[in-house]
Amino acid sequence: MTRALKSRRQLTAAAGCALLLLALVIPLAGRADEPYARSRDYDLQDIHTHLWFDLEQRQVRGEVTESVAALRDNISELKFDSVGLTIDGVAVDGRVAKFSLTPADLVVTLERPAVRGERHEILIRYHGQPKKGLYFVLPDKNYPQQPREIWTQGEAEDTRYYIPVYDYPNDRTTSEMVVTVPAAWITVSNGRLIGVKNEPDGMKTWDWKQSETLSTYLISMVAGEFVERDDSWHGIPLRYVVPRGEETTIEPTFERTKQMLDLFTSKLGIAYPWAQYAQTSVDDFVATGMENTSATTLTTHSLVNPTLALEDHDGADEVTSHELAHQWFGDLVTCKDWANLWLNEGFADYFQRVWNELRFGDDDADFEYWRDQNEWLRQPRLYPMPIVSREFDDSTEYQDNIYDKAGWVLRMLHEKLGDEEFFRALHHYLELNHGQNVVTADLQKAIEQATSINVDKFFDQWIYGAGAPKFDVSYAHDPGAREVKLSVQQTQKVEGRVGLFDVPVDVEIATANRRETHSIEVNQASQTFTFPADGPPLMVIFDKGDRILKAVNFKRDPAALIYQLKNAETTPDRSEAAVALGNLKSDPNAVAALGDAAQHDTFWGVRVEALEGLGRIGGPDAERQILAVIRDPTPWVRDVAVRELGNFQEDASLPSKLSDIASNDAAYRVRTAALGALARIQAPNAFDTLAAAVKSVSPDDTLREASLRAFGRLGDTRAVPILVEWSAVGKPMGSRQAAIGAIAELDKSNKAITRMLISFLGEPYFDVRIAAIFALAARGDPDAIAPLEELLRNGALTVAIGPYVELALRLLKAQPAPK
Ligand SMILES: [Zn+2]
Repeated sequence: MTRALKSRRQLTAAAGCALLLLALVIPLAGRADEPYARSRDYDLQDIHTHLWFDLEQRQVRGEVTESVAALRDNISELKFDSVGLTIDGVAVDGRVAKFSLTPADLVVTLERPAVRGERHEILIRYHGQPKKGLYFVLPDKNYPQQPREIWTQGEAEDTRYYIPVYDYPNDRTTSEMVVTVPAAWITVSNGRLIGVKNEPDGMKTWDWKQSETLSTYLISMVAGEFVERDDSWHGIPLRYVVPRGEETTIEPTFERTKQMLDLFTSKLGIAYPWAQYAQTSVDDFVATGMENTSATTLTTHSLVNPTLALEDHDGADEVTSHELAHQWFGDLVTCKDWANLWLNEGFADYFQRVWNELRFGDDDADFEYWRDQNEWLRQPRLYPMPIVSREFDDSTEYQDNIYDKAGWVLRMLHEKLGDEEFFRALHHYLELNHGQNVVTADLQKAIEQATSINVDKFFDQWIYGAGAPKFDVSYAHDPGAREVKLSVQQTQKVEGRVGLFDVPVDVEIATANRRETHSIEVNQASQTFTFPADGPPLMVIFDKGDRILKAVNFKRDPAALIYQLKNAETTPDRSEAAVALGNLKSDPNAVAALGDAAQHDTFWGVRVEALEGLGRIGGPDAERQILAVIRDPTPWVRDVAVRELGNFQEDASLPSKLSDIASNDAAYRVRTAALGALARIQAPNAFDTLAAAVKSVSPDDTLREASLRAFGRLGDTRAVPILVEWSAVGKPMGSRQAAIGAIAELDKSNKAITRMLISFLGEPYFDVRIAAIFALAARGDPDAIAPLEELLRNGALTVAIGPYVELALRLLKAQPAPK
């Protein structure tokens, strides 16, 4: 699956709302309860499912035939995971069979105990209104234009909510999905479309067959009023499917799919494994993307508007490359249990960067790793937990370990093995384990078989062990000895799963005459390294290029940082200098150097870091430097420059400049940033400018949503009627979300607003309910506690909103009692 990483960055940039950040960090799907794989009684060998739908009742009716073989003697009953489904009848080998139900299982009794290897065919007829697993998105009186959509989301353990089935990853089965839907609909499922036939009553039946095995959480069914564009790659059908009305987004969103397929197949040397590759975007999706075998599902939030495509750095590539990589890592080879989920997610994250590197080059990929590292370090709860861990009752809690950190660890493994050996090892791992379920030891063994390099210590340190090294670094120059002595301490607390680290580190030392890079091995709590230096160092870089996941405390004087910002070769090293300089207060040389980098660095990310540093420093000099960049040709740099101007409240001339940008910049994202900055500086003209922008027409309602969000920041209660208007049912969902988030911040004693937000909890629309939950948490009115508790209790949650509600309640209850 993919979390909303890209959107998280964009939205926090735009909204700066901590609660929204939390909302995006915690995904809805993916809760897993069983840390150990089960022992199995039977092998599920084939599953043939036929589904019918009652849209009025939001009901599914199904007939599933499951071919099973007993895995040991004396099996007298067969258990299928099944939650909330009504079982209408069960037959074993064509004869009516006895069954019973528990809250979590359908138990089918065999006529006589089976012996090992004995096969049976179980037919189950059932119906129900799934609470999870299968979702209906339908038009209603408020949103008559909403296309009809039905889609599924199996991971982690939700397939059982719409099919009684063995629902844990450690089994694989072939699968056939047959669906009967209105004739005008399109359906997508796993594998090959083997037929579509007309039914008498204006319906059609689609038949999809997945001939290679999958784990049942990867079964997918999408049906509805979609449009499809077809393509092919080396004879494999590619399907791009979006809701009716979104046709223009297909090309900018999916146009690089074939290049990604080329890249991944050539790196891995393993053919794309499936009969098709479909990418389907659905509304109200509960994750950003899901790698169902041969049939990825994506949220419509990641569709790229063609007008906005040019102002976005990577469009939907993060999620599309991630899900494509999963077709090998996750689908062809699948984790055996959730404790080893990093074997799916770490590789998917890693290959996102492989794609990023091909498309944009090393500078970009290295910079993204550097940002991932910073993001991971900002979450201290992740530090003591290893990547492979069974200590979870909610698999989402430590997920940045299995995504960001695991991707980082694979990058270090790549570095350790070298390019050729690394990809040889991955090829061998996939070849050896294809069509199987794996644990981490399978990867270790495959690496060793392919390369003869023992990686046990590496895995102990990075995969089974927790944390990352934390270094204190300092140096002294000895002119007499013509040496630099570098002292390195590992300061992490060695406890629990965190040990001392043994890592290779490159140290670069620049003097007036030469630059040299030295490779050292850091493996003790405290070490000193001596390097030749023909003069005083102008710059010392510890871990050149940021090749080791780590935290560093390395005090350098401003001159060395300025030199590094200007002269370091790699983007992480220049970015790191920009951050350090931006943390210095009132140093005019730092301001000038950051201004220079903001204008002239060749890499966009360093310009961004320099701008953010200037924003942190503040004051008229820093502002002047930022103003010099507001014509940067790169929209995502200009965006940051304008956003950072929101830190400068003193300058009376700024409001008119920002208003000008808000109306005239060529990029909508920059205009959006200007609207936010006007609110932040509390500009006298902000209210009128924002109110006008609410009425404007822009792609994806970009300007309207930005203005509505900015009203929250501005804090002017004149905005309340506007926000009430745009919060109302019937308005576009994006506008409602923005308005709901903003109104939470205004007129906090106004109980009518709290009541309005509470009323939104009862709506059927997922996005609005989430927005209302977080708005209520942000508002802090204890009146919201009872309705939220009721929401948690009453079970009317059509999707797993529970974790959000729990978080909101924790926040509300943690607040001081109102006076
Ligand atoms: Zn994923």
